[in-house]
Amino acid sequence: MSAARIDGKAFAAGLRERVAAGVRAFEPATGRKPGLAVVLVGDDPASQVYVRAKGKATLEAGMASFEHRLPDSTRQAELIDLVQSLDADETVDGILVQLPLPGRIDEAAVIAAIDPAKDVDGFTTENAGRLAVGGAAMVPCTPLGCLMLLKDRLGDLTGLEAVVIGRSNIVGKPMAQLLLRENCTVTIAHSRTRDLPAVTRRADIVVAAVGRPEMVKGDWLKPGATVIDVGINRLPKADGGTRLVGDVDYVSASEVAGAITPVPGGVGPMTIAVLLRNTLVAAHRRAGLPPPERL
Ligand code: NDP
Repeated sequence: MSAARIDGKAFAAGLRERVAAGVRAFEPATGRKPGLAVVLVGDDPASQVYVRAKGKATLEAGMASFEHRLPDSTRQAELIDLVQSLDADETVDGILVQLPLPGRIDEAAVIAAIDPAKDVDGFTTENAGRLAVGGAAMVPCTPLGCLMLLKDRLGDLTGLEAVVIGRSNIVGKPMAQLLLRENCTVTIAHSRTRDLPAVTRRADIVVAAVGRPEMVKGDWLKPGATVIDVGINRLPKADGGTRLVGDVDYVSASEVAGAITPVPGGVGPMTIAVLLRNTLVAAHRRAGLPPPERL
């Protein structure tokens, strides 16, 4: 079998167009653009690339982009002061603090300072709780993007066996909650799981969010399974450069799976598109308007 390739790049482009259309309708209704504030502390090169990409995508969607770049020496109290000023700023609908923060800053304390209504990353305890117990949560961007790809491919997910490999607060746990909400039978696997290949082989849906290059092999999969590869790993190339690979061994997996996301071009582009979507939703909720139906 040769698996269908799930084109996250194309899906994300469509989502960004729908968000831009939503922004064009929001402005005349409220007299302002939705606004996203991104806060970067320090000069981590990967974070700088992400922040630049987020700012560019925000402007392309027609939203207002506010970038706050603070030196590595910034104290935790100063950072929390900035977050609180963004909480109070009427022109800001979404606040994203780029992680990781420098080691001496307590990330949990900074995230806790974000107004849950503006928490477009869905990282606050309040939004994680709402996702778990039901209610209008802001859902973390990467797992929500994975769910969109799955529903686009499979339609109704009711009754399917899903195995999520990874239990981080950012990807694995919210992914499992979302699949449960869609009536899947969900297993969360992690580094202590016994016989992971056997567990994974039960799954109609596999979401790999591990951070280990090409760990999930074709013979770990049930024939026809749908595989979502969240992993972003850089491997050295012979010429001294690097190449990007996922947590799934694409070559062997695509011989067994029914459909699979590539890396790059699968989950990666969805994350920023969903960030814009979450910002548009936050802007509508804050303005007392219903968010556009088809996002
Ligand atoms: P974390 O490091 O926070 O979590 C990794 C999880 O994988 C942990 O729960 C860990 O288990 C589990 N794990 C580690 N080794 C094994 C193993 N050998 N067998 C089974 N489980 C294992 O990572 P994140 O969740 O933040 O990210 C996961 C991957 O997704 C990374 O490659 C990251 O780069 C990528 N990512 C991609 C994004 C995108 O936009 N596409 C966004 C966010 C992340 P335990 O809890 O027991 O330690």
